[in-house]
Amino acid sequence: MEEQSFWLKDMIVLGHGAPNEVRKIKGAQGRCACIWSEKTGYCRINPIPHGYLYDWEIIDVEVRKPSNDGRENTFIIYNYENDWSKMYLHIKVHKDEKGNRMKLGRKDAVALIRKLATDSFSKVRDVKRSFGIIKPSRISGFLEKNLDNSVQQTTLFDFDNLVMNQKDYKWIPCIHYTCSEPCISKHPHKSKIVEWGCYQWMIKDPNNEAHCKKVFDNLRINQEGWEHYLLIGNIRTYPKTYIIVKVIRFKNKEI
Ligand SMILES: [Zn+2]
Repeated sequence: MEEQSFWLKDMIVLGHGAPNEVRKIKGAQGRCACIWSEKTGYCRINPIPHGYLYDWEIIDVEVRKPSNDGRENTFIIYNYENDWSKMYLHIKVHKDEKGNRMKLGRKDAVALIRKLATDSFSKVRDVKRSFGIIKPSRISGFLEKNLDNSVQQTTLFDFDNLVMNQKDYKWIPCIHYTCSEPCISKHPHKSKIVEWGCYQWMIKDPNNEAHCKKVFDNLRINQEGWEHYLLIGNIRTYPKTYIIVKVIRFKNKEI
């Protein structure tokens, strides 16, 4: 039976998960993305081929409902199984009259994130929302050993409802944070980061702990003059467990 498709329109790309091997397309790599619009709110879409979308771009995307994922506003790209090499049929980035891809400017991006950052961890978790944006009042980073067993791998990397191929990583970057908005759960919260830039950095010297720890410098954690927000998202198997999709940061001087 043909599954029904529909379009999500005028959505802003807020963040991406790290790449996964997608079983149904012979292990090709796909990512999930968090997109948002005033009208529709936060949505999760996957799988997205590498290089198709960038943060802050504005897109229309043709999707269907998943068969095995009950998370709020979670969608599958329509017919990706057959159209992987022509995903432009289903993912359309808005372009200006000169044909350039459109994306939010820095100022608009900052204003949007500040506007959206009204969440706390408990506010998002208690209603099992798919995403939330938290302004932390305190934040610190640390590395956790990546336990090499299948249960751990599945739990950690089931973000996209697919299996991630990240056995190569000895450490997982994590964050402790405290919400600035009212929150009934115990602080600090501990979350794993799945922002892909962290893994791209660590893979350059994956067994060197000092090298891997520098991900937190790259994220400008606790560096003066930087403003941080956490885009959190839940995982399929445990919808009350959240990971950090992206550590959104702005340099105060720039804004
Ligand atoms: Zn909290």
